[in-house]
Amino acid sequence: MSAQIIDGKAIGKAVRAEVATEVARLTERGIVPGLTVVLVGEDPASQVYVRMKGRACDEAGMKSGTVRLPTTVTEAELLDTIDRLNADPTVHGMLVQLPLPDHIDEANVLLRIDPRKDVDGFHPINVGKLVTGDPNGFKPATPYGVQEMLIRSGIETSGAHVVIVGRSNIVGKPMANLLIQKGPGANATVTVCHSRTKDIGSVTRSADILIVAMGKPEFITADMVKPGAAVIDVGINRVDDATKEKGYRLVGDVAYGPVSEVVAAITPVPGGVGPMTIAMLLKNTLQAAMTL
Ligand code: NDP
Repeated sequence: MSAQIIDGKAIGKAVRAEVATEVARLTERGIVPGLTVVLVGEDPASQVYVRMKGRACDEAGMKSGTVRLPTTVTEAELLDTIDRLNADPTVHGMLVQLPLPDHIDEANVLLRIDPRKDVDGFHPINVGKLVTGDPNGFKPATPYGVQEMLIRSGIETSGAHVVIVGRSNIVGKPMANLLIQKGPGANATVTVCHSRTKDIGSVTRSADILIVAMGKPEFITADMVKPGAAVIDVGINRVDDATKEKGYRLVGDVAYGPVSEVVAAITPVPGGVGPMTIAMLLKNTLQAAMTL
């Protein structure tokens, strides 16, 4: 069987074009949606993500800003920066790039962000809105992007058994909460697996839709999926590869080649969920600018 390849790049581009149209409309009314990212330290992966977010903002006609702080910044200084951005009317959305250095309490930082500007959707108020199905909150961009991909690819979630592997606060848990809501792209029966799940293959094999967010390169093999299922691979992992100029290549949490022989639809890595995450972050920033 040859699987449908769910093209996150193309779907993400379509979402971004829709956002750009709305941004142009708002700009005509004198409101230029603005996103500011706070980056602490020099983590190379974080720097790449922050650059990508800035570029995507610019392309959509939004105002982007980055506040760079040294790894040695104190928690109090970081909280002061957030207060300043909370008070700045040109900043509609903000996020603090994670992970943070160990001496800073991530929960304190997320709590300090004005929930109306919290376009990552990690503030407990927005988490609560997601759980209760309040549409006025911000949905975390990665699971929101997965849901959008499923909808735009015509993959029916209503009544489907969705198995999510991973229970992080940024992917697995919000993904489950999105899919159990009433409404389009939801109404699913959801099972969440994690490192303590027994006989994980027997659970993943029961999935009509399998969403994997583990951070374990090519963990999900062909014998762990149901023939004809849809597989969404959130994982992004670097594996050594001497044939590549950089010395590594990116792979997902799913063994793409063998699994794509068995399933009906699958996302590639790269070019799957990654581009959707950025597109939905822009959508959230637009939502913030429209409602602030
Ligand atoms: P975390 O490390 O926070 O969570 C990983 C989850 O996987 C945990 O719940 C863990 O279980 C579970 N897990 C790990 N090993 C196993 C195992 N052997 N069997 C079953 N479950 C296991 O990761 P994130 O959620 O932050 O990210 C997951 C992946 O997604 C990463 O590769 C990350 O790079 C990628 N990612 C991609 C994004 C994108 O835009 N495409 C955005 C965000 C993340 P337990 O809780 O028991 O430890």
